[in-house]
Amino acid sequence: MTTSGPDGGVERAPRSLFVLGMAPLRRLLAPRCVVCDIAPGDPLCAGCAQDFFAAQVPRCAVCALRLPAPAQPGDRCGRCLSAPPHFDATIALADYAPPVDRMIAALKFGGRLPLASAFGALLAGAAQRLLSGADAICPVPLAFERQAERGFNQAHEIARRMAAACDRPLRGDILLRTRHTAAQMDLALAERRRNVRGAFVACGELADMHIAVIDDVMTSGSTLDEIATTLKRAGAVRVTNLVVARTA
Ligand SMILES: [Zn+2]
Ligand SMILES: [Zn+2]
Repeated sequence: MTTSGPDGGVERAPRSLFVLGMAPLRRLLAPRCVVCDIAPGDPLCAGCAQDFFAAQVPRCAVCALRLPAPAQPGDRCGRCLSAPPHFDATIALADYAPPVDRMIAALKFGGRLPLASAFGALLAGAAQRLLSGADAICPVPLAFERQAERGFNQAHEIARRMAAACDRPLRGDILLRTRHTAAQMDLALAERRRNVRGAFVACGELADMHIAVIDDVMTSGSTLDEIATTLKRAGAVRVTNLVVARTA
């Protein structure tokens, strides 16, 4: 702590024993990594971020499905080549596998919101170049009843932090969910498409916009395809998905 002296100069206040005693206490109370619960981290330590999210695995440029190595940047999976979805690109931070699946469950069902901050910051870092051209950061909406029951929308929490980190506008208002849909993971592919058809509605003027759509988990991509269809029908020209985890 510094104070201004009578001659206008700056003199240093003596450090009291109280202040010295605070240092170890502060270390003890410093936030620890939400994953390993050992190293200091707010919310992830550098080691866990590196171990679980930094791996460079070859993925389809359009849907982020893992591709067999070796793959070139821009390569697509067989499904995206034969039946391209309506979205243009997808970035996934990790596979939907331990411990990332448990982190997502802890956020969604355990309300561990600091994880949303970690995911948002990691996504902003991974998609830096792409996000500089995005006009809107749009979280996948939850149905009204589901959000009321959970108290928050995990995709919105991730998107909020991401929008702040990359200084792009958060637009939770441009996409609404008209009805709750059954969990996609429990359904076969054809049922997933039927399950989400007409479940979203775009609001406002989206002409010529590049929209980044944020979600926690991408399974078959049926939900995100339906969203991209809805956004493009309303005028968006480019839709990029940013997800924390991708199922195999
Ligand atoms: Zn850790
Ligand atoms: Zn693909």
